Amino acid sequence: MFEEEIETLRRKGLLRRLRQVESASSGRIVIEGKTYLNLSSNNYLGLATHPQIKEAVIHAIHRYGIGAGASPLISGHTTLHQELAEKVARFKGAEAALIFSTGYMANVGILSALLGDGDLVFVDRLSHASIIDGCRMSRATLRVFPHRDTRSLARRLERVSPGQRILIVTDGVFSMDGDLAPLPEIVKLAKRHDAMVMVDDAHATGVLGPTGRGTIEHFGLEGQVPIQMGTLSKAIGAFGAYVAGSHELITYLINRSRSYIYTTSLPTAFAAASLVALDLIEKEPQIRQQLWDNRNYYENGIKALGYNTLQSETPIIPLLVGKTGLALEMSNQLLARGVFAPAIRPPTVPQGMARIRTSLMSTHTRGDLDFALEVLQKVGKGLGII
Ligand code: PMP
Repeated sequence: MFEEEIETLRRKGLLRRLRQVESASSGRIVIEGKTYLNLSSNNYLGLATHPQIKEAVIHAIHRYGIGAGASPLISGHTTLHQELAEKVARFKGAEAALIFSTGYMANVGILSALLGDGDLVFVDRLSHASIIDGCRMSRATLRVFPHRDTRSLARRLERVSPGQRILIVTDGVFSMDGDLAPLPEIVKLAKRHDAMVMVDDAHATGVLGPTGRGTIEHFGLEGQVPIQMGTLSKAIGAFGAYVAGSHELITYLINRSRSYIYTTSLPTAFAAASLVALDLIEKEPQIRQQLWDNRNYYENGIKALGYNTLQSETPIIPLLVGKTGLALEMSNQLLARGVFAPAIRPPTVPQGMARIRTSLMSTHTRGDLDFALEVLQKVGKGLGII
């Protein structure tokens, strides 16, 4: 039944397959018994393997067991879930927060609860798939604007009829490009048109802003973005997601967000992990500083080699290749030389924009980065990309 489609994908170089990873998501990755330098992890701060967090998780498992056993409104919302929600709210400068089981579910659950038939939602074209899916599920009218193009957004907003409920939603940091949303302009436009703003800070939380609070802190927009969503699975190093906002927003979502209500709570031990991770982010800023030092050192090297890194300003540094087949070939050649960096192809990125997505971690050493640059020089030159 699916043979033809699979064959088409294969022919286009778009068929994907799962790889079995035999190690933690850290600076090194083990696949089929071989160790590679890992440039593919979102574990930006190395917290997924932090000894203090592992201890906290083991301790929580002893007390709370493995699965939460029920959805939050039944009996799955533990004291640790509550503690985490309160900590996230403080961290994000919001009145309250809610813990979802994954970021995908958070986006789908927030958007489909807040919007309905007759509402309008404006979305950046490169927003994460879970945002697009949430908008579709909501039945609101979806208006996609070109990537980071606030002029186009402004023109579209001018055409809205008065009285319509409007939401503008964007990633804070775009996951495949590593660039930032033009949040100050978005917030300004939202004020002018009486629209709500929602930011997905999955890749910014723990990474951006003077104290790692994300893009809102980075741009000095505290108090101006009413719906702050993010994940606990990237820089936080654990699993799950949150939304932070007003008490009213959170109460509404507890009652109306189907992917919150009808799912077993996040395993409690992961709440414990995120609690310690947020503590570390606040108390040990040197971890984030190390990430930025690594990112800047690597980016300088990459640019000197002549790679096109699009508009990246974060530890996500894409190396634009263009053709899907060439990106796959590059990824294979990098692997053969000891570097794991995935090729990202359509539909994850637009046609003709296939790339190698590299991401940096605080735990990479200078030696790791020099090795990566040396391999990227050889492979990039060999393939005529640089
Ligand atoms: N939003 C963005 C911007 C993401 O990059 C991701 C994860 N890839 C998600 C949401 C989904 O988060 P999760 O992996 O926790 O489902």
